[in-house]
Parts: sequence; C-alpha cells; structure tokens
Amino acid sequence: MKYKPGLLLCALAVLCGAMPLFAQSDLDQRVGKEMDSLVATYKHLHENPELSTQEKESSALIAAELHKLGYDLTDHFGQYDSPGLVSYGIIGVLRNGPGPTVYVRTDMDALPIVENTGLPYASHVKVKRADGAEVGVMHACGHDIHMSVFIGTARMLAQLKNQWSGTLILIGQPAEEMVGGAGALLRAGLFTKFPKPDYVLALHDTAELPAGQVSWHEGTILAGADSVDIIVRGIGGHGAAPQVSKDPILIASEIVVALQTIVSREMDPQVPTVVTVGSFHAGTKHNIIPDEAHLQLTVRTMNPQQREKVLSAITRIANGIAAAAGVPADRAPLIEIAKDSVPATINNPELTRRVAGALERGLGKENVVPGKAQMASEDFSLYALQDPKPPICMFQLGAADPAKWLTAKQNGTHLPGPHSPEFAPVPEPTIRTGVKAMTSAVLELLKK
Ligand SMILES: [Zn+2]
Ligand SMILES: [Zn+2]
Repeated sequence: MKYKPGLLLCALAVLCGAMPLFAQSDLDQRVGKEMDSLVATYKHLHENPELSTQEKESSALIAAELHKLGYDLTDHFGQYDSPGLVSYGIIGVLRNGPGPTVYVRTDMDALPIVENTGLPYASHVKVKRADGAEVGVMHACGHDIHMSVFIGTARMLAQLKNQWSGTLILIGQPAEEMVGGAGALLRAGLFTKFPKPDYVLALHDTAELPAGQVSWHEGTILAGADSVDIIVRGIGGHGAAPQVSKDPILIASEIVVALQTIVSREMDPQVPTVVTVGSFHAGTKHNIIPDEAHLQLTVRTMNPQQREKVLSAITRIANGIAAAAGVPADRAPLIEIAKDSVPATINNPELTRRVAGALERGLGKENVVPGKAQMASEDFSLYALQDPKPPICMFQLGAADPAKWLTAKQNGTHLPGPHSPEFAPVPEPTIRTGVKAMTSAVLELLKK
C-alpha cells in the first residue's frame, strides 16, 4: 500500500481522540462492578432513614466504608450551637502527593414525612419527637442517593490513585435539612484542622431531569432563605369597643397585603424574590380585640444585597403601617430575623465551567444540560463564606424514571420531587451517573 500522509494523520487523530474514551470505558467498567453493592447500600439507607442530628447509623456506615478504603478518618466531627447535640460529621482524608485539595460533601439526614411511594424498600420508620408526637421518617430529599454516590466516588478515587495527585477530603455532613450541619462542621474548624480547601463540590438529586443526565449552572443556584417573625402589638380591649383599642389583627392584615408590594413594586423583576407569610396567629375569642398578632414569613433571595433590601423593606412596612394605625412608638412591631438563615448558594463561575467540561467528557455532551437557579435553599452555601472562602460548585443529578419523565414533559406535568412523600428516584442509573459525574469532576481538578 502506498504511503498516504493524510491517512496516517487521520489514524493518529482517531487514536488520540480515542484515548479519553479508553479511560472512560475503564471508569464505566469500574463503576459497573460496584453497582450491585451501591444499589443494595442505597436500599438499606432508604429503608433506614434518620432525622437531622440523629444520623448515627448512616454516618457509621459511611465511616466504615471510608476506613476500609484507606481514608484517614475522623468521626463525630462538628459542634452545634446547642451543647446537648452530638454531631455525626464524618471527615475522610486521602493524601496522594502534591496538588490541590478538593472537598466533596454529602448530606446524610432524612425528613419527617410518611413515605407514600409503595416501593418494596420504602421506609416504615416512625420516631417520637420531643413534643411526644409520632412522625414518619423518609429520605424524601434523596440524601440516600447522595450517600450512595459518595461511597461510590470514594471507591473510584481510591482505585484510581495513579490518575490523580493532591488531597481528597470527603465529608459526610449531618443536619442539612435544618441547616445546622455545615455550620457545625465549620464551627469545629473544618478548614483549619484539615487541609485548606481549594475547591468544594457537591451534587443534589432532582426529579426535573431524567436519570442519566446532570445539569450545571454558574452563579446563584439556590436562593438564600430567611425566617422572619413579626409580633404586631396593638392595644387589646372589648370587641364592641374598637374606639378604645388598636386592633393588631387589622394592622397585621394590612401588613400582609403591603408585604406583597416588595416583590411586585420594589424588586428587580429580573431577579427572583419570594416573600411568603406562612403563618398568622392572633386572638382567643369572638368578642376580644387581642393585644398581639404573630406573623411568620419565609424570604428567598438570590444575593446578599437583595437580601438586605428585602429585609429592610419588611421592617419599614411593618413599622410604617403600625405607626399609621396610631400604635405608639413603644408598642412598635417586634421583628426578629431567625439565626438559622442561610445565604444564597453561589456557584463559582470558573470552577463551574471546569466541572461542566469534566461532566461532558465523563457522561457525554448529550447528558449534560444547562440548569437554572431554584428558590430552595441549602447550607452548602456556607462553605463558600468561611476563610479561605473556597470556590464551590453544586451540580444537579437527574433522578427521574426516564420514561415517566418524558410522559410528564409531554403532558406539561411534574413528577413528585424532593420533599414529596412520593419522591422515588430510580436507583441504578441515578447512582451510576452520579458516581461517574463526581469522579470525573474530581479527576479534572486533581489531574496530574
Ligand atoms: Zn431537602
Ligand atoms: Zn437535600
């Protein structure tokens, strides 16, 4: 055969192009070998959910896995605000030569929800709350998917040590649902007792995407959440003598209506904002004007400046309406912003683009789609605010049955998602995709 330079170049290009594919099919095969065990772990975790701050068995399971794989392990890490609570935080460190330090975080807690999926591995767990009431417990946010993916990723990166260099730190975080867990780990010195982070990664499952796909979004991906309590103080009296009282029910009602103007008239329509009054309590009897009315609000914002603007508008409106009703200054509303507020989760754009590239290479471009911000909240945001203020990135992992997802899309409906008693991720493709995705992201950040 005659020498054809064009053909040789062509063959070289095919070979070079194929090299990442060889690496990829190696990862595929390795993940494939773990799937039976990971799905079994998932079903076990799903059947045995634990509420926030009570993640004793789940954290022990993760600790045992990481220990077996050779990670340096610290358990019971973390310090809650309330001294009586034990933190079940798990930190696993794998040192593998010079290079950056990547943190990967999973959450571990479940929700007080009675499961209604009818799955053979559905949870039947019930626990008594402090007030004596019995509640069902369910992994309705998919933190069991996250833990299974996390264990799979831990196995992959331990097996593939020859493909990366640096330090990998895996964190099992308790109490995400009550947004206390990240704070507990950081308060205990997560970034000072362990190597300083260069990057922090996490994923969250979603029913908005079919299993097999992931999505990414740079900038704000989850809103900041604030809980606000307003005690509207009036002057109580006889229901038949309004002229000698200041009715807090009427004042609070006007406040509820006027609060709606924050979103509709004061905020940039391009930036999502939510102000919801979720609770309004006042009074005891038909013919008594009470002394007080109590409002409870949730506020969702996309950045710190917007948050300040909304919170100060709430204060201004509540005080202004009370003053307009003639409430004396010493009876002005009491406004309290809860300490368990969480800021918006803002994905570092540069890191997110790098992770998105790795996801495309790991899963195929057709399985990686642009995502969008949601008004839900996460304490993952806090890792970006603690010194050395590392870049963070959370991406979303499709968990919906692909056939059901397609039907829902065609019908313009939605499948039950996180926090629904019917949320039912399909374990096998979801976990497989999650492990490949997170492993690919870490390998990109720690590549030799
Ligand atoms: Zn949740
Ligand atoms: Zn969650």
